[in-house]
Amino acid sequence: MAANWKMNKTASETREFISKLVPAVSNKADVNIAIAPPFTSLMVAADELENTNIVLAAQDVFYEEKGAYTGEVSPLMLVDIGCKYVIVGHSERRQYFNETDGIVNKKIKAAKKAGLGVIFCIGESLEERDAGKTFEVLLRQTEKGLDGIDAENTVLAYEPIWAIGTGKTASPGQAQEAHAYVRERLKVLYGNRADEICIIYGGSVTPENVDSLMACKDVDGALVGGASLKVESFVRIVKFREEK
Ligand code: PEP
Repeated sequence: MAANWKMNKTASETREFISKLVPAVSNKADVNIAIAPPFTSLMVAADELENTNIVLAAQDVFYEEKGAYTGEVSPLMLVDIGCKYVIVGHSERRQYFNETDGIVNKKIKAAKKAGLGVIFCIGESLEERDAGKTFEVLLRQTEKGLDGIDAENTVLAYEPIWAIGTGKTASPGQAQEAHAYVRERLKVLYGNRADEICIIYGGSVTPENVDSLMACKDVDGALVGGASLKVESFVRIVKFREEK
C-alpha cells in the first residue's frame, strides 16, 4: 500500500503525519507500506520512518547520476537519504512534464542501477478507453517502460488516468481485467519471474472501495493519492478488510 502525496504537505506536516501513522500500523506485518512525500519532506520522513515497518519512496527521479541539471534529483541522492522506492511514469508527469515512454525507461534503468525499487505507473486515458485502446496502451507502456529492466523490486501500478483524482474508481471488474492483461504480458516478458512483480491499482482508492478492489485476484495493492493525505483514511486502507 503506497501513499503518493503529490505536491502536498510541508516538512513539519510530514513529521506530524508520520508520527501518528507509525503507531497505528506498527503491528501490520502482512502488508508492505510505502510513503512518497515531496522531495522537501524526504529527510524528515526518513528520520521518522527509521526502524519502522514503513518504507520511504520518492515521487520522481532524474536519470543522470549528477551534473548540470538544475532542479533535478538523482537516484544516488535518493538512496543516500534512505529512499527504497521511487514512483516513475506517473500520468501527471507524463501529462504535465511531457515524460515519454523512453524517458520513463531511462529513469527506471537509472533508479534500478542505484539500487532503488520502482513503482512504475501505466494507464489509459478516457479517450483511449472509449476508443477500445486500453490494452494497446498498456502493452506499449509496459513493453517500452520495462525494456531491459529486471523483475526484481519492480512494482507495476495500473492507474487509469480517468480515475486519478476524479472520484471515479475503476470497478473491480475493470481493474481485474486490466491487471490480468498486464499479468499475462509480464509472463511473456519475464516467465516465472513475473510472479515477483506486484501489480497495484491506483485511481480514487478510498476506505470505502479498497475492500472490493483488493478482493480482485490480480490486484496486489494500491497506490493512493487523495485518501493518503489523512492519517485515518490511509490507516483504514492499509488495514483493508480488517476494520469496518
Ligand atoms: C495517484 O496519483 O497515484 C492517485 C491514485 O491519486 P488519487 O488516489 O487521488 O486518485
